[in-house]
Amino acid sequence: MDFELFNTYSNKTELFIPLDDNDIRIYACGPTVYDYIHVGNARPLIIFDVLVRFLKLIYPKVTYVRNITDVDDKIIVQANQNKESINNLTERTIKAFSNDADALFVKKPDFEPRATEHIQEMLKMIKVLLESGNAYLSDGHVLFSVSSMPNYGKLSGMNLSEMIDGARVEVSDYKKEPADFVLWKPSKTGELGWHSDFGFGRPGWHIECSAMSEKYLGKQFDIHAGGLDLIFPHHENEIAQSCCAFNTKFMAKYWMHNGYITVNNEKMSKSEGNFITVRDALKKHDGETIRYSILSGHYRSPIDFSFKALKEAKSALDRLYRASENFEYDNVIDEKFLSCLSSDLNSPQAISRLHELASEYNKGNKNAGQLLKSSAKILGLLNYDTSKWFTKNVRDDEYEINNLIAERDKARSDKNFKLADEIRDKLKEKGVSIEDSNSGTKWRVD
Ligand SMILES: [Zn+2]
Repeated sequence: MDFELFNTYSNKTELFIPLDDNDIRIYACGPTVYDYIHVGNARPLIIFDVLVRFLKLIYPKVTYVRNITDVDDKIIVQANQNKESINNLTERTIKAFSNDADALFVKKPDFEPRATEHIQEMLKMIKVLLESGNAYLSDGHVLFSVSSMPNYGKLSGMNLSEMIDGARVEVSDYKKEPADFVLWKPSKTGELGWHSDFGFGRPGWHIECSAMSEKYLGKQFDIHAGGLDLIFPHHENEIAQSCCAFNTKFMAKYWMHNGYITVNNEKMSKSEGNFITVRDALKKHDGETIRYSILSGHYRSPIDFSFKALKEAKSALDRLYRASENFEYDNVIDEKFLSCLSSDLNSPQAISRLHELASEYNKGNKNAGQLLKSSAKILGLLNYDTSKWFTKNVRDDEYEINNLIAERDKARSDKNFKLADEIRDKLKEKGVSIEDSNSGTKWRVD
């Protein structure tokens, strides 16, 4: 099957030709773990999860890496604000992130590397960039010199003066040119940092993705994915670091970027304050409903988030559940459905095809119900038995209960038994009893 995708790098739709048919290698930029994720952050998780599920149908092996940024100035600021340790904040946030991803039926990537566990790999790369003359030391910082790379700006299509005029680069005394970016920066004593040849400090944001993608996928790989807002400067800088350090012509062959989620036509973002956390959305709606709603727009177009849209998604899913009752998943996927996805991952068309299959089933075509159930799995939909889907909303705080249990497990492993007992009492107030066993904590309603 031919898969066509829009490549940001060439700015056109291209036929996907893998570097190695036997192992498709994909890297997506993951979360910076300083707070709960919002619905806008959920979009790339879901889209690239579908991409991986789809490619696994065509190729024998797909290796998917999604990193965790657990060293960043935002994390330091948030930990100070919360008066908690950086480690506590990141561990707690990673756990919550993982719960949110599970609730959205996003499968775990093959590798989920953390930046703090790859400092040596980053330092090694920074050293190479210094030796090759692509980086320089200045005032305790190591900076990448953008003028040392002729193609800099190719991905975003911006030239240096546009970058500066748009004030999207930080002008500082220690930089030779305003667009130069930080590879390593000094930390004060007592601050988060690591000892290195360039002094006690910490990495800039971009270097981690270059170092970790090389470690798990090699110097060049098939697809690099992320949100539209990462094209500049993050992805532009990743390309500069990787191509200069590894002496290669490209980092990833294809660059895929998802569009924004908007609220009243404005981008949903933490800084705008117009965001809804996945955690809050899950209190009212099942993760599958959120997933359906996000997939009902094409991944490159903006989609407007609203609770009204989620209600509509729920009724649309009800219809698909009714038509697929009595069927289990099998390996036969509807061809028209697949051809929708093979055209730049057109999930809205693929969903329309699922509704066509539901109509055919309702007219008496049994096979259409079977195809519907199996095909929906590629989008990560119809995860429940139909009877469960229509009855499970009885307890709509199930998600909150699972989070409390996870927090209690963490407290127990930290030997904070006072907190663990407090959480147990809180659950009791909700009429929930818990039982600890070797296979984890189970809960039931009294
Ligand atoms: Zn990245």
